[in-house]
Amino acid sequence: MIKILANDGIDPIGKALLEKAGFVVDTETVPQDQLAEALKNYDGITVRSATKVRQELLDQVPNIKLIGRGGVGMDNIDVEYARSKGIAVVNTPAASSLSVAELVFAHLFTGVRFLQDANRKMPAEGATKFNALKKAYAKGIELRGKTIGIIGFGRIGRETATVALGLGMNVLAYDLFPFDGNLTLNLQGGIQVPIPVKTVSLDEVIANSDFISLHTPFADRPILGAEEFAKMKDGVAVVNCSRGGTIDEAALIAALDSGKVSFAGLDVFDNEPTPNEAILAHPKISLTPHIGAATNEAQERIGAELASLIIEHFNK
Ligand code: NAD
Repeated sequence: MIKILANDGIDPIGKALLEKAGFVVDTETVPQDQLAEALKNYDGITVRSATKVRQELLDQVPNIKLIGRGGVGMDNIDVEYARSKGIAVVNTPAASSLSVAELVFAHLFTGVRFLQDANRKMPAEGATKFNALKKAYAKGIELRGKTIGIIGFGRIGRETATVALGLGMNVLAYDLFPFDGNLTLNLQGGIQVPIPVKTVSLDEVIANSDFISLHTPFADRPILGAEEFAKMKDGVAVVNCSRGGTIDEAALIAALDSGKVSFAGLDVFDNEPTPNEAILAHPKISLTPHIGAATNEAQERIGAELASLIIEHFNK
């Protein structure tokens, strides 16, 4: 009987699929320092981002034949080393794209109606300064008809574009690899509407967008820094639900303070899990603690996809 340790948990749908296929699945979390011992009794392990699967651990667990990552990033796994030892490493990159894309719009709708500030001030001042607050938040804007610039046109970038198109926004996208094709709007009743989209240059995205959303991995330096902010439209807004480091946070604060950038929405930060205080306290930033993929639907899809990858691997 094949035994899997789902050390960071797995959605019940995924667990049920594995059990139906005859696997034993344990979901209690074994502390990192006891994993080497515990994994001697398992054939595979699944993790999210908490458990680390490093070379040192892999050298002590000869029975492990598969590592499954529920989600995208595999920074917590020594992937190449595992594969060099013949251990399969699988992840579920597409399962959470829509959840991340929807969070982008949660930040955008928040910013265009000042909710990040209203939610902070209403509890303290709503009963005493209602009319002053009403006036302060009177100049909201709509998203329809505005242009969203999407930097990084992979799975999440395209999903974000599709939501934007559904809202009646214009899309300007840039990727290292050009795209020229259709995105499909899936509407009620099974209606599918193909919409042609073609990537443009980074400069065009930066200069012509009302809102800019980042969807690239982190490489070695920020994609948006002081130079890029200077080339943006006045009053632009910026959302980052990709990875910390892709925006120069000091340059962002300067651009918010000067009014160049009207608001920002951030789900990811430098130095997670201890973001910069000046970012956390800024009244023009809508903040979430890296929850882009954290929806029930995404976790169900991740669990189901992970289960099918594990079943496929061991039944091969
Ligand atoms: P993906 O690999 O499908 O797409 C990334 C795209 O970025 C690729 O098309 C790639 O060509 C492009 N790219 C890379 N470097 C670039 C650059 N310098 N300029 C322009 N384009 C560039 O990945 P994805 O699934 O769409 O994920 C995108 C990002 O979102 C990743 O950083 C991922 O870690 C992050 N993410 C965040 C959350 C969250 O909770 N906030 C959840 C899932 C993924």
